[in-house]
Amino acid sequence: MSLSSPLTILGGGPAGLAMGLYGRRAGLDVQLFEANDTVGGNARTLQLGPFRYDTGAHRFHDKNPEITADVKALLGDDLRRVDAPSQICWRGRRIDFPLAPYDLCRKLPLSLLAQISREQLTIPRYSDDAQHFEEMALDSYGETLAHLFLLNYTEKLWGTDADQLSPRVAGDRLEGLDLKTFLLEAFGGTTEKTRHLDGSFYYPRRGYGQIAKATADALGRENIRTGAQITAIEHEADRITRIVVNDEDAVDVDRIVSTLPLTLVHRLLDPPPPDEIQSLVDSIRFRHLRLAVLGLDRSRLTPNASLYFPARSIPFTRLYEPKNRSPDLAPDDQTVVVLEWPCHPGDEGWTQSADTLRTAAVDLLQSQGLIDDDEVVAFDDHEVPFAYPILEVGSEQIAERLQSHLDRFENLHLLGRSAQFHYTHVHNLYAQAKAQAQVLASGASETKPHG
Ligand SMILES: Cc1cc2nc3c(=O)[nH]c(=O)nc-3n(C[C@H](O)[C@H](O)[C@H](O)COP(=O)(O)OP(=O)(O)OC[C@H]3O[C@@H](n4cnc5c(N)ncnc54)[C@H](O)[C@@H]3O)c2cc1C
Repeated sequence: MSLSSPLTILGGGPAGLAMGLYGRRAGLDVQLFEANDTVGGNARTLQLGPFRYDTGAHRFHDKNPEITADVKALLGDDLRRVDAPSQICWRGRRIDFPLAPYDLCRKLPLSLLAQISREQLTIPRYSDDAQHFEEMALDSYGETLAHLFLLNYTEKLWGTDADQLSPRVAGDRLEGLDLKTFLLEAFGGTTEKTRHLDGSFYYPRRGYGQIAKATADALGRENIRTGAQITAIEHEADRITRIVVNDEDAVDVDRIVSTLPLTLVHRLLDPPPPDEIQSLVDSIRFRHLRLAVLGLDRSRLTPNASLYFPARSIPFTRLYEPKNRSPDLAPDDQTVVVLEWPCHPGDEGWTQSADTLRTAAVDLLQSQGLIDDDEVVAFDDHEVPFAYPILEVGSEQIAERLQSHLDRFENLHLLGRSAQFHYTHVHNLYAQAKAQAQVLASGASETKPHG
């Protein structure tokens, strides 16, 4: 393969776009194929009349200074720092999230507090060797807190029992509450640590999708083909040789980066993989989301970045109000809220009509005393497929075996949340793409960045 041969990128979400941008900057000739009419994947911003909303509550995490600087250079002054706390809706009260002891002391009944405090003195605290999420939550927070706020929410989000989920589904969200912080807060008031754990982040003025758009512009729109669904990936021996676009257009490939879901890539392989691999493909799953979007005739509903609903009786997990991330996303005197309903395909949540979804969303906001029905001035219904890889116990090992199966193709690289079956975020994808572009441009032997 020659260095000047084009790099073919499958998928125009954040991973594919970042790969294209950094590939171009490293001197590679790139061609990106995206099935949708627009780029951005699961990190897009959509329009509903005068309102704008993201495909799920997004924030740009300032965790990699080099990538933050790159994104700032793309967006200029439009990338702003936002301070907006998140809260949990619990029995009509609002509890700070991440959980903060000082706040809990103010808002929970005394009997519960006494129980929680007793448990804090005896639990082992966050451990790396928990076998599953339930064990980790109980070890980190104790029985009472875990059952009140974490296990119910987590099972709803993933559609799976907490003792079947990997501890890694928590991401880094449960790391803040060590015993020292707990005692300091409980007796001394709120600390910097818990206050800033989750409430401060970057966000683009025109919505999160502005990052994808700016990346696509910098990569060059002429290098992006939208409306181009990959329908087959052909291979011979240890190389991918051609991709088929929209069932009709065969394109020869040399080097290829796929950001499509790991399971989909296997299903597109022509010839197909052996039976043993196909059965593994069927045994890992993704969680999908249905969004109910309500335009409201009031200037603001909450002060929060996100509002979480842990109660099992509520099918939605989270509400977010775009205006609290950027005021430009709704008119001054109106606001828009987005409710997330996690689903498996075929679930009631996935198959219900838009009208039923609207009714459920309005009922929830009314039952929480948040709105009156006549305030709703607009409604949208949006599906977010492949929102999260479901990290069940053992599924990461299966994903590794599937990735190893693809490793035999010397010219194929995987990048992206669903491609690597890894619960990762946009700044990480940009960092991986940047590193991979350097490797490809240098002509060094292929590095395959697995999750
Ligand atoms: C509700 C929610 C909230 C989130 N919040 C945050 C956050 O706050 N911060 C953060 O950093 N990240 C967040 N994320 C994660 C972030 O959205 C993902 O990490 C990111 O979108 C993954 O990018 P990707 O390119 O790997 O995949 P995707 O965004 O899924 O993009 C894959 C692309 O491939 C295309 N595609 C699929 N099949 C084909 C085909 N056959 N042919 C051609 N194209 C195809 C799709 O149309 C899509 O455009 C959140 C995700 C969700 C769902």
